[in-house]
Amino acid sequence: MKRILVTGGAGFVGSHLCERLLNDGNEVICLDNYFTGKKSKIVHLLNNPYFELVRHDVTMPYFIEVDEIYNLACPASPVHYQYNPIKTIKTSVMGAINMLGLAKRIKAKILQASTSEVYGDPEIHPQTEDYWGHVNPIGIRSCYDEGKRCAESLFVNYHEQNNVNIKIIRIFNTYGPKMEPDDGRVVSNFIVQALQGRDITIFGDGMQTRSFQYVSDLVEGMVRMMNSPDDFHGPVNIGNPGEFTMLELAQNIIDLTGTKSKIVYMPLPQDDPTQRQPDISLAQEKLNGWEPKVPLKEGLIKTINYFDNLLKETK
Ligand code: NAD
Ligand code: UDP
Repeated sequence: MKRILVTGGAGFVGSHLCERLLNDGNEVICLDNYFTGKKSKIVHLLNNPYFELVRHDVTMPYFIEVDEIYNLACPASPVHYQYNPIKTIKTSVMGAINMLGLAKRIKAKILQASTSEVYGDPEIHPQTEDYWGHVNPIGIRSCYDEGKRCAESLFVNYHEQNNVNIKIIRIFNTYGPKMEPDDGRVVSNFIVQALQGRDITIFGDGMQTRSFQYVSDLVEGMVRMMNSPDDFHGPVNIGNPGEFTMLELAQNIIDLTGTKSKIVYMPLPQDDPTQRQPDISLAQEKLNGWEPKVPLKEGLIKTINYFDNLLKETK
């Protein structure tokens, strides 16, 4: 049995990861400051004697003895990470320093949840890990993009300088149950709007693309990365190469929900990337043939059912 710390464990991805790690027979400590996370996502785990919950902010040092650390703490939705951009940078950078310092001290293995945002508005397509990216360092997304890029640099340098056993994954747009209705990201926005019969808000002309990954595929990739050979550190892309325009996504959700909602067009936010698609050959090679299993429609149906039940409960 391993003892594992999950920062950001009460968030969308973190809550799925905590559950998976417990099911695999580990002891899990979930650390969160509840900025975008919620206790309700992990409340069902509280009766498990191998699960602990800690209210803590990763910008402050934290000490515990564990074998592995998954560092997920950081708001991921543009609405939330732009709410307090300085805090977002502190969370990514000071959070990484604190967790890497802990990993160094206790000799734990540590995985960083980095992001496809390090590629910015990419000039190469699909994105491979050796692409350095095209990020506006002073734009509205920079608190997140540059924070995550700095965190990657910290990880690599703690490895080079202090021999910390690091793993970096670059996560592409992920969706699924346990997202919040007010999360602000596109999949949850469109589904909630469709279920409530409200207008579906497409930003820009809807021709920008994203590649959407269902959350169970991400969690499988994370666990495989943590368990990969010690000489493989990444960064490695974890995403679903299926690429869709926002218009196609909206149409899929309209068809699957049977909603009467109308599509409306709103201004495109500054620096919104025009395209996004992961090249996953490295993950397939290094992570025992890992590849996403859940196609968009199947994942959307599960996510629609989740939001449908949630909205009925909270009516
Ligand atoms: P989320 O917002 O649901 O979860 C983030 C969690 O971190 C929340 O529980 C939040 O309360 C917690 N948190 C934020 N600041 C904190 C702090 N200072 N101290 C302690 N806890 C803090 O987002 P998510 O989608 O679950 O994302 C999880 C991680 O994966 C993030 O690091 C994100 O950048 C990364 N990621 C996610 C996606 C995606 O599409 N879901 C894509 C790329 C990267
Ligand atoms: N988007 C949209 N309507 C919304 C929310 C987002 O059209 O209500 C667009 C957004 O402009 C972007 C894409 O959907 O082009 C994905 O946005 P999201 O915030 O989910 O993630 P990110 O931009 O970080 O990939």
